[in-house]
Amino acid sequence: MIQKVQVSLREYQEKRDFSKSPEPPGKIKSEGQHRFVVQRHQARSLHYDFRLEMGGVLRSWAVPKGPPLEPGIRRLAVQVEDHPLGYIGFAGEIPQGEYGAGSVEIWDEGEFDLEKETADRLEFSLRGKKLSGSYALIHTGDKNWLLIRRKEA
Ligand code: MN
Repeated sequence: MIQKVQVSLREYQEKRDFSKSPEPPGKIKSEGQHRFVVQRHQARSLHYDFRLEMGGVLRSWAVPKGPPLEPGIRRLAVQVEDHPLGYIGFAGEIPQGEYGAGSVEIWDEGEFDLEKETADRLEFSLRGKKLSGSYALIHTGDKNWLLIRRKEA
């Protein structure tokens, strides 16, 4: 299995020789531990539910116009309640009268590397079928975030 070093640990790791120092080399996540999904949800209004596997749940945002594909584009992403990990594969019909009634289909899925995490900013690289490259989520107030396709370094 190819191990991917998180970008946020690169500087830390480059400064140290862990064969000589007792310091921890840092946790390297293996493939599959950080998954994401985008579910196209045709509810009363169409939106795309963008979910990142973090801390044992799916942190979730509703993106009315869908995730940006081109660098420099930003889209409103409204944070919604964390969803259970099992929701990552969900597709189907939510019956009329139930919360979120309508159809859910998986629009994209894959894995991501979390590169930066603060209370109001997440930076990550997605490896999906449609979405690939560097993204950021930036908290702008209340439940509102911006989902941004970053230019590659
Ligand atoms: Mn939804």
